[in-house]
Amino acid sequence: MRPTFLPRLVNGPLFDPVVYVRLLNLKSAILFDCGRMEGLSPREILSLEAIFISHPHMDHFMGFDQILRTILHREKPLHVYGPEGIRDKVIARLGSYTWNLTGGYPLKLFIHEVRPHEIIVSSACAHEAFRPSEPTSVARTGTTIASCPRYRVESVLLDHNVPCLGYVLREPFHVNVKVEAFAKRGYLVAPWIGKLKEKIMAGCMEDVIEVLTVSGVSLRKVMDLMHDLVVLSPGQSIAYFTDIRASDENIGRIGMIATGADILYIEAFYLGEREGEAHEKAHLTARQAGMIARLTGARKVVPMHVSPRYHDRFEDVVHEMDAARRSL
Ligand SMILES: [Zn+2]
Ligand SMILES: [Zn+2]
Repeated sequence: MRPTFLPRLVNGPLFDPVVYVRLLNLKSAILFDCGRMEGLSPREILSLEAIFISHPHMDHFMGFDQILRTILHREKPLHVYGPEGIRDKVIARLGSYTWNLTGGYPLKLFIHEVRPHEIIVSSACAHEAFRPSEPTSVARTGTTIASCPRYRVESVLLDHNVPCLGYVLREPFHVNVKVEAFAKRGYLVAPWIGKLKEKIMAGCMEDVIEVLTVSGVSLRKVMDLMHDLVVLSPGQSIAYFTDIRASDENIGRIGMIATGADILYIEAFYLGEREGEAHEKAHLTARQAGMIARLTGARKVVPMHVSPRYHDRFEDVVHEMDAARRSL
């Protein structure tokens, strides 16, 4: 199975946690947090359609300016999601620059402030010097905060002494093409397959699309093509949790959205020897990260955001996390 989500821990496990997820075949990507961004190329930044900020501490948010600078001439809008207060933070950042030269620029930002029962949405356009629109409130139930045919993002509010959001990116289901069935039925492998996948993901089963066969171009119904050429399987899920206290409440909320994740990115800031300090500063130890990994049943776990204190003891961090993950 060719995965749809191609995630990358941009700064490695020791430095600012930034997870870039390329969305295969969409020329698009999303980002979890934006601290230091040197590990991303301008091309990668240009493909971002949404960024999901856990909380606006500097190591998770300072790269916002670099993103903005890179995409300033772009037509595609950028969606910014974050916890309560993110609207003011983004507006403050925009307000700190002079925008007299962006009159003809089409870029539009949408700021989504995720609160427990609503999302406050504002927009800001480059051609209006990024003056923010009046906020509107969109009621929310459940944990989904963003959705489109190819993916949805779920979020829970967590405690880091400040509001902090944890996220899970989910593919509703995965469309596998049975290449071996093509020759048998006279179809040729060509870009129309991407269109077919798109239609299936959007649920447009009654639509008709152009397909390429050995006898030329012809029209086929999506439903029939799906029956002949496609197998559906469970979609991918990628979880991202950082800067949180290991409280029962936080762990319970993580379990609500992250159970069975394919990949869990999780902070392992301290070793267990500093559990008291971890609790006070609302961070996880490697042992606690491993315990959360075990509770969620994540298939793969990637530790990140390790304190500089342990940069020369990273093996100890991994060992402690793995031991807790395997313990009963
Ligand atoms: Zn942090
Ligand atoms: Zn923090």
